[in-house]
Amino acid sequence: MITIFKKSQATQIILLFTEMKLVFATNNDNKIKEVQALIPSGIKLLSLADIDCTEDIPETSATIEGNAIQKAHYVKEKYGYDCFADDTGLEVESLDGAPGVYSARYAGEAKDAEANMNKLLNELDKNEQRNAQFKTVIALTIDDDLTTFTGICQGEITKEKKGTGGFGYDPIFLPHGYSETFAELPLSEKNQISHRGKAVQQLIEFLHR
Ligand code: IMP
Repeated sequence: MITIFKKSQATQIILLFTEMKLVFATNNDNKIKEVQALIPSGIKLLSLADIDCTEDIPETSATIEGNAIQKAHYVKEKYGYDCFADDTGLEVESLDGAPGVYSARYAGEAKDAEANMNKLLNELDKNEQRNAQFKTVIALTIDDDLTTFTGICQGEITKEKKGTGGFGYDPIFLPHGYSETFAELPLSEKNQISHRGKAVQQLIEFLHR
């Protein structure tokens, strides 16, 4: 799902003729390389380190979308660069969408993936209603325009951890239609069906327009 808040044609015309610098609000070089390879050659991606942004960017919104927008606006306003930022959460149906926007700190400030999974498995206990979805929102600011891209991957929470790949909640997330958790699937396969993969794909298509 793409939501365009306002979009200027001038931006698209400028994009055609000049190299544009665009910040991806992350310090993960792998994420930068991955996306850089997929976007138009006229766009140079910069990381937060590239623009000397070393502080923790505030993420105080009550929604995943709000946090993505907050991060992109922060970079734009403080550093003057066009920017995109992502935020992800795991929403469990029978827990009214928890941990959602609080996924990273579900079991505490340490952002410990094992502790987060253990807490979720304990909360669900023997509950047979285990539907869940990962949601990623990417917020892109170019000039005064804000566009968001939402990727969702539906599945269920397993009763025990399975697999050693991936990160975060991957060992307990079984995507619909699959018999292996995200932590058991090859990364290339996860990327094709994942929430983040879908949101990034929309961003790339948008930048190519
Ligand atoms: P962030 O917005 O990327 O920082 O992610 C928020 C939380 O969701 C963190 O606890 C991550 O570990 C978790 N998370 C994000 N993406 C994934 C994923 O693809 N698989 C499993 N956990 C994820």
